[in-house]
Amino acid sequence: MSSSLAKYRQKRRFRVTPEPRGKQASAGKALHFVIQKHAASRLHYDFRLELGGTLKSWAVPKGPSLDPAAKRMAVHVEDHPLEYAKFEGVIPSGEYGAGTVIVWDRGTWIPKGNPKQDYRAGKLKFELRGEKLHGGWTLVRMRQRENERQESWLLIKERDGEARPAADYDIVEALPDSVVSKRKIAPEGPRARKTAARAVRKTAAPRVRPGRPAES
Ligand code: MN
Repeated sequence: MSSSLAKYRQKRRFRVTPEPRGKQASAGKALHFVIQKHAASRLHYDFRLELGGTLKSWAVPKGPSLDPAAKRMAVHVEDHPLEYAKFEGVIPSGEYGAGTVIVWDRGTWIPKGNPKQDYRAGKLKFELRGEKLHGGWTLVRMRQRENERQESWLLIKERDGEARPAADYDIVEALPDSVVSKRKIAPEGPRARKTAARAVRKTAAPRVRPGRPAES
């Protein structure tokens, strides 16, 4: 155990002594998770897991899939404050991540191993108890390519009773809206893209800010 309380715990038998074990993220303990659907310059889903007092975050371009064969790219991004899990609204144009954010799913996640250790090692296995997502999931870090600024991970559904083949069901299409409000984000499709392209042609060229990091 690599925790700062390891020595303290080694010396004690908590089944016998009334002393506290000390709270810490551990296997089997429920923590909060949120998935925010974010219509930035490109629509994506921000997958966030509470761990160590912050929200560990990944941007998933296609969103989660219930099909274990559909491994979804999840770009690791910076930690967000816990309060961010409640954020829904519109980030003004010209600002970082401009666009609408809705809470697409939320609930608790239950790590199957030691979550801090597994996060560092790049392989998290957990159960989701959300309003939309349930059952077992894995987040696994891919081998880093040289010069890659952000880590690429994969979000994968485990094979269990909650899994469904992509040909039968696409959860991001079937359940597109917020779980906390009536907010919606217009679906992306050939028709929506055409409308957006027309709107872009009508407006002036967007302001360019050199050196800004990729949106997440
Ligand atoms: Mn985002």
